[in-house]
Amino acid sequence: MVCVVGAPNFAAALMVAYKRPPLRCILQPKKHLAFSPRMMNLQSNASDEVEGSPWDHKGLLQSKELYQYVLETSVYPREPAPLKEIRAITENHPDFYMGATPDSGQLIAMLLNLMNAKNTIELGVFTGYSLLLTALTIPDDGKILAIDPDRQSYEMGLPVIEKAGVEHKIDFKSSPALPVLDKLLEDKKNKGSFDFAFVDADKTSYGIYHERLMQLVKVGGLIVYDNTLWYATLVMPEESVDELMRPDRSFLLEFNKFLAADTRIQISQVTVGDGMTICRRLF
Ligand code: SAH
Ligand code: CA
Repeated sequence: MVCVVGAPNFAAALMVAYKRPPLRCILQPKKHLAFSPRMMNLQSNASDEVEGSPWDHKGLLQSKELYQYVLETSVYPREPAPLKEIRAITENHPDFYMGATPDSGQLIAMLLNLMNAKNTIELGVFTGYSLLLTALTIPDDGKILAIDPDRQSYEMGLPVIEKAGVEHKIDFKSSPALPVLDKLLEDKKNKGSFDFAFVDADKTSYGIYHERLMQLVKVGGLIVYDNTLWYATLVMPEESVDELMRPDRSFLLEFNKFLAADTRIQISQVTVGDGMTICRRLF
């Protein structure tokens, strides 16, 4: 079965996956949440919250209070207003749960600043949280090649990007990522031309993106893969994971091993958001 990220039944599959053992299924009425789901981009239309699901507002952490603490103490006070606006808009999207979380965004901005990134590429834009974050962080003459076949979701966040005055840094391509990467590689001068890549598109293609990005990103540059811990399903027995989530789960189990063994890169698996793997090209 092919798993299409963003398909309406994918959200249902997540709910089902988290209702099964071994993760305990503890239904908690929303009114018992200690903070407003509207502050997050993880709000659900469902009447119940399921512990361990993307709707329970704690990411991969063990308690939602701790996640709330991190967000309220260190993230929200420094989150630029346009990013808050994109999160608010994304709450109305049927696939709201796909939006990047603000704690992940804060780390990405730190990485971009540390390396003085100027020329970046993003695979998987959705409503544009990570894209706008990048655009706000890189210098005024910086560039982001942003690729996603879903122009409609990009256009939901576009007015905020325009209002923030950073649209001139963005080259949005409404296309699957692979043909664009292959086209870039036809021209030798694109090789090693990117400082930073953020990969948040279809998970089962991460391996083929990796080989292309290893050529397009400069030596010393970063490739960051999002969702590498896949809603914690990597450590659940396969039979307890909904069939819709299994292809990505199986792929990521192999991909994480592959990255760990890839001597061309230095890696760091971080547990913010849904897990991100930071890869630095060594040669
Ligand atoms: N980075 C985004 C979240 C991306 S969600 C944020 O900050 O909110 C995943 C996105 O990957 C979806 O918008 C989906 O349309 C896109 N996607 C799916 N298949 C793709 C492909 N083959 N190439 C590029 N993008 C793809
Ligand atoms: Ca993601």
